[in-house]
Amino acid sequence: MRLARRISRIKPSATLTINAKAKALKQSGVNIINFGVGEPDFPTPEPICDAAVKSIRDGQTRYTAVGGIDELKEAVSRLIKADYGLDYGRDNVLISCGGKHALYNLMQTVLDPGDEVIIPSPYWVSYPDMTELVDGVPVFVPCTEKNGFKMLPEDLERAITPKTRMLILNSPSNPTGKYYGAQDLRKLADVLLRHENVLVASDDIYYRILFGGREWVSLGMVEEKLRERIFIVNGVSKSYAMTGWRIGYLVGDSDVVKAATKVQSQVTSNPSSISQWAGVEALNGNQKQVNDMTKVFEKRSRYVLERISKVPGVTCPEPDGAFYVFPNFSACFGKKAGGKTIKGSLDLAGYLMEAAHVAVVPGEAFGEDRCLRFSYALSMPEIEQGFDAVEEAMAKLG
Ligand code: PMP
Ligand code: GLU
Repeated sequence: MRLARRISRIKPSATLTINAKAKALKQSGVNIINFGVGEPDFPTPEPICDAAVKSIRDGQTRYTAVGGIDELKEAVSRLIKADYGLDYGRDNVLISCGGKHALYNLMQTVLDPGDEVIIPSPYWVSYPDMTELVDGVPVFVPCTEKNGFKMLPEDLERAITPKTRMLILNSPSNPTGKYYGAQDLRKLADVLLRHENVLVASDDIYYRILFGGREWVSLGMVEEKLRERIFIVNGVSKSYAMTGWRIGYLVGDSDVVKAATKVQSQVTSNPSSISQWAGVEALNGNQKQVNDMTKVFEKRSRYVLERISKVPGVTCPEPDGAFYVFPNFSACFGKKAGGKTIKGSLDLAGYLMEAAHVAVVPGEAFGEDRCLRFSYALSMPEIEQGFDAVEEAMAKLG
């Protein structure tokens, strides 16, 4: 069957593919430790589940307004006021089927064919492919491990052309866990102030998961003049352990939000009514669980770093948040496993899956072939067992 040309330009999501493979192996009886997918291992908090059940019982089971129920939009705008100190009303909020969908709606709304999207690399797997799906052109800005994989202002400046329409910033980052502090953002803001045509998608999906007492800061908070060009992409998946519920949101200029709502009206209509009511409880309810979860992730991150530092030749920037580390394993490239040479991250991830029964995502999928991504959204005993197996498998490479 002939498929549209744009389909051949994209790949399936590597993170979701690895997860499916790990789950299938687990089901077939192989004890796989899954460092692959990025989703909290905690259950969705009870009050959120209760709110969903109540909404069903209350008959909230019909179409809602396309862009989401007012109660959820208001909860989002209240949260942004509390956490960012910024004023956005209901007209500035679109509720979509996950942060992924919110970002895609934004791209559909503001990008014309040939528009360039600047993507600091390493990047989350979906950014380039989403850009390609809307006939945009991904422009990668390589970021060095030395600088914690963060984009330097001079590199941003160099990447901007008359065709640049969007920059995607993700902090704390998937896959590196690094975060842009106020000073980093100030310097990037200075560059952006010189280029009025460039919009910013600020993917803040991990913003509640920050370590070491770091305070949340985002671009719109450091530079007032950029606010009308900044679009916040977020959702409940990560902060509230609600990956399956599919609620995300887009916040920004009301004309763009209105246009993005029009896109949504023709494609998916509203996100699940039940999930939206669960989302209201998540955002308005007790936030203790988010903070407790963050503490657990922070503790695990320290352990994971310690274990990684014991693998000879492997280096890893310390994560500032989220639940990922992105260690550089390139010291082992060129070594052999059972007669086969490990040439890059794909070979190494394949080897670890076979020899250690450990699933990780090859760095190649994030634009950095020297690294592997480990998600430590796993219990401590699993993390320990996983790193024992990784250490053993790495020692066998000749
Ligand atoms: N942005 C980043 C950086 C992510 O890692 C994810 C994870 N899925 C998302 C956005 C979207 O998450 P969701 O669609 O579940 O809200
Ligand atoms: N964002 C998560 C990850 O990177 C979930 C999978 C996905 O949506 O890509 O693993």
